[in-house]
Amino acid sequence: MIELNGVFKIYKMGETEVYALNGVSLKIDAHEFVAIIGPSGSGKSTLMNIIGCLDTPTSGKYILDGKEVSCLSDNQLAEIRNNKIGFVFQQFNLIPQLTALENVELPLIYKGVPSSQRHKLAKEALEKVGLSDRIHHRPRQLSGGQQQRVAIARALVTNPPIILADEPTGNLDSKSGAEIMQIFKQLHSHGNTIVLITHDNHIASQAKRIVKIQDGKIVGDSKIA
Ligand code: ATP
Ligand code: MG
Repeated sequence: MIELNGVFKIYKMGETEVYALNGVSLKIDAHEFVAIIGPSGSGKSTLMNIIGCLDTPTSGKYILDGKEVSCLSDNQLAEIRNNKIGFVFQQFNLIPQLTALENVELPLIYKGVPSSQRHKLAKEALEKVGLSDRIHHRPRQLSGGQQQRVAIARALVTNPPIILADEPTGNLDSKSGAEIMQIFKQLHSHGNTIVLITHDNHIASQAKRIVKIQDGKIVGDSKIA
């Protein structure tokens, strides 16, 4: 479903060019649980942005569900993001003024889902991440791990087949990180495709496949039994 062929991403900074991705070819099938691991600056977030249709390659092809993404308009890219992909970030990116429930409802508002259904779906998503008893809390009234669970509920609420997570445990202590990994494992067992970016070997080892990236190139790709 996710297929990159010879993808380059070159950032121009004045006179210099940064080769953030240097000819990446990668296939990820539906229902896989893949960790992408690599040192700081190796191109992980750049790769995630391309997979998530937040950015397009400088050259090379990205084909998602049989469609070449680089040929699509901004509106079409936004539609793919809204329908196919749930994003989870290191910094949670919750709106501080809104409750957990309201944060989770946001993607449904963008999709035009009526409010009666929104409440129901958002409550169900918060239940899936074990936060039924915190739905009226605001982010500052929640622990880091709980905030990340709200962010995961927000990513799930539109029922996207693909979850992309960029260092989702990077700001968490190891216990909260383990709880977040449990949620990803559960989502995977329910059929989601998970692509998780990390620089932590222990976190990566909990996926089913580990792709290693260094200097914008894939230098390792192994399945875990
Ligand atoms: P980290 O683990 O620190 O998050 P990363 O693997 O996610 O690192 P990227 O953010 O993908 O790395 O960056 C890859 C390279 O591209 C780095 O050298 C970075 O400085 C450069 N880069 C990233 N985004 C931009 C940008 N918008 N403009 C210019 N250079 C960029
Ligand atoms: Mg990054």
